[in-house]
Amino acid sequence: MPKRTTITHEPRDLYRRLSRWFAQNARPLPWRGKTDPYEIWISEIMLVQTTGVVAAKRYPRFLKRFPTLQSLARARIDSVMKEWEGLGYYHRARFLHQAARTLMSQHKGVFPSTYDDIRALPGVGDYVAAAIANFSFGARVPAIDANVARVAARIFGITGDVRSSAVRRATYKALEQAMTVGKGSIWTDSLIELGALICSPRNPKCGLCPMQEICRAGTSGKTAEYGLPKPPDQRKTVAVACGIVRRRDGRILIAQRPETGLLPNLWEFPGGKRDGNERLAETCRREIREELGITVNVGERRLIVRHAYSHYTVRLHVFECRYRSGTPKTIGCQRWRWVKPSELQRYAFPKANHAIIEMIQEDCR
Ligand code: SF4
Repeated sequence: MPKRTTITHEPRDLYRRLSRWFAQNARPLPWRGKTDPYEIWISEIMLVQTTGVVAAKRYPRFLKRFPTLQSLARARIDSVMKEWEGLGYYHRARFLHQAARTLMSQHKGVFPSTYDDIRALPGVGDYVAAAIANFSFGARVPAIDANVARVAARIFGITGDVRSSAVRRATYKALEQAMTVGKGSIWTDSLIELGALICSPRNPKCGLCPMQEICRAGTSGKTAEYGLPKPPDQRKTVAVACGIVRRRDGRILIAQRPETGLLPNLWEFPGGKRDGNERLAETCRREIREELGITVNVGERRLIVRHAYSHYTVRLHVFECRYRSGTPKTIGCQRWRWVKPSELQRYAFPKANHAIIEMIQEDCR
């Protein structure tokens, strides 16, 4: 069980310190100050697993493409995935689209205003629901993302693995007791911003922090004992082989992944995981046959792409392949297409495939 010292923090004092610091130091981010629930929702979903720098660039573009709930609900899933391309964790885009349609069909296009109703939407977790309730509807619900979890664990002196459910519960309780005054939006925004700018995981700048006199971790000088996850185990590496399958006319075969599972609905160069110690060229040939029912000649290896997912790393071996025989079938994919190299940009691919597309287009120059 995590150990927590008795809270002696007075809510008004905490809020005053945070809100003053925030008013003077908050960065001008594109979602800052917004209250429209649709716009807040998009920003929060985007920020769940994307850095603030990347999200700040992509958020305005997404809103320009889908300015309203109605426009998102009306859009085809392919165009939403395409707009999400490069942001990773593609289930977020699929859930956005699904939730937009749910909001239109079950809520008459009006965003629900309570935490529980927001939390019931597809793809909306505890943090996002609380953030929308705070920013758009004036609620005071602890919204605990990675920054808030770390900062609060340090201020309130909660030890243990910050990702464990025991620490999460203790953090929630401490914040709930503190958030009895002020605006929920300021609590959330200022704690997030403090975590981003001052209270970093490894080198918190306690000397610049508005909480320095009352923070348990800061005053003890043992910040590394609070608000951090247990060191991750060695990541597993998975070997995958795929082919740039070319036809005589120069077209290349691409396949669309299934609607569910990892990277749903994205397009890719066909291939799959290595089986035991099989030669990687054989993996490529076998996977293409199993996925699409065609045979190919596997040629030279053109590229190795390394890509880290949340729990493992993929080493993607990319082979040049020549189409031999068979008509492609949708055995392990939703759809397939023979496309010109110049048409690849029209399809949404996972990030790990972007280097392959660049290489193909480089070949054409
Ligand atoms: S005093 Fe230090 S450890 Fe405490 S919240 Fe501020 S930066 Fe983080």
